[in-house]
Amino acid sequence: MRAKLVVGNWKMNGNLVQNQELLTAIIPGSEGLRDIICAVCVPYPYLPAVQLALKDTHIFWGAQNVSQFDLGAYTGEVAVEMLLDFDCRYVIVGHSERRSLFGEDNHTVAEKFKKAQSAGLIPILCVGETLAQREIGETERVIEEQLDAVIKLTGANSLTQSVIAYEPVWAIGTGRTATPAQAQSVHAFIRSKIAKQNTEVAANVQILYGGSVKAGNASDLFAMPDIDGGLIGGASLNANEFISICSAAQ
Ligand code: 13P
Repeated sequence: MRAKLVVGNWKMNGNLVQNQELLTAIIPGSEGLRDIICAVCVPYPYLPAVQLALKDTHIFWGAQNVSQFDLGAYTGEVAVEMLLDFDCRYVIVGHSERRSLFGEDNHTVAEKFKKAQSAGLIPILCVGETLAQREIGETERVIEEQLDAVIKLTGANSLTQSVIAYEPVWAIGTGRTATPAQAQSVHAFIRSKIAKQNTEVAANVQILYGGSVKAGNASDLFAMPDIDGGLIGGASLNANEFISICSAAQ
């Protein structure tokens, strides 16, 4: 049985004071949660403060990106070892904002995935199609290519120690959520694709949905058989919303 997982992606938001207020409000709310895993992926500079605030709680933490390179002359980059220094458990790789705004292609994302995993971090691999791709019936092909790049580099077995997040680009930050049926159909496609290589890995890998998840739509999404939780952007910045979404995953 796969545990449900809800991850907040704070993106480039917050400051020291606001983050502390948010965590102070989330921590008590998280104490009543049973049988679900909760985490927040925060901007790099706040990792030490987040680690301090969350270390004795049930909430895990992580980063939103990582370098594919070993330590060295890579100005502006952050290495996996640095994330380990702050006890990160998760790192998001291949978020659509990284792909579209920062030029990360499938191969770069696969390298980041591999680097994170070999260091013992759990990569959260984001996949998803744009609206234009969906409208011309390319959804499955796009997602297949995104997954194949990782499988080719690391092997399908590596997906056991990872999380996949299906985030349709047209649903991110737009208020336009995929319907539970639309999301389920892509999640089932992802699982069946992995099952062709390894049925056990396919049965165990957590596949999250992301894109305008809110307290009001989370339960219907999480009730679908192949949706194992959510990757939450905007709503993770509001403690009540985030805890309600986590509760919906119970
Ligand atoms: P929103 O929940 O703000 O749509 O963002 C989703 C997302 O991109 C999470 O990674």
